Amino acid sequence: MSDYFEEMGWTPLRDGETPNVLLQMARFLRDVGMWDMLGQDEKLPPPASKAAVEALEEIKITDAGSKQCPVCLKAFESSEIAKSLPCQHSFHKECIIPWLDKTNSCPLCRHELPTDDEDYEMYRKEKLRAVEREKDLETLHNSMFG
Ligand SMILES: [Zn+2]
Ligand SMILES: [Zn+2]
Repeated sequence: MSDYFEEMGWTPLRDGETPNVLLQMARFLRDVGMWDMLGQDEKLPPPASKAAVEALEEIKITDAGSKQCPVCLKAFESSEIAKSLPCQHSFHKECIIPWLDKTNSCPLCRHELPTDDEDYEMYRKEKLRAVEREKDLETLHNSMFG
């Protein structure tokens, strides 16, 4: 089955090409099954906070060629400086910065960075609390019936 993205011909970028972040994002949304949510009430998480972006670790690529940037699909070059997210995934600075300017999660594993959006932070805490409650219930259940 050929789809829109295959027809677009996904190939690594050539030298001098800039990644089309929106297109990459569309592909990401499709891959994680969030594509269908667009246009509905659910919206993309807000951008990562400026402080979080500034605090991202910079790493020097030592094993060039063995790793590629997940956004533009180009292999890192030796002694290139890459931005590393807290989840340890690395990206070109020029690839990940525009990305985090749009949404707060790692393009690879969806690890979330803090945002400047109070509503969203509240929603996220609620979600975490719900998970904790589930766990408590499970522990309780296990201690009663386990
Ligand atoms: Zn890149
Ligand atoms: Zn990640």
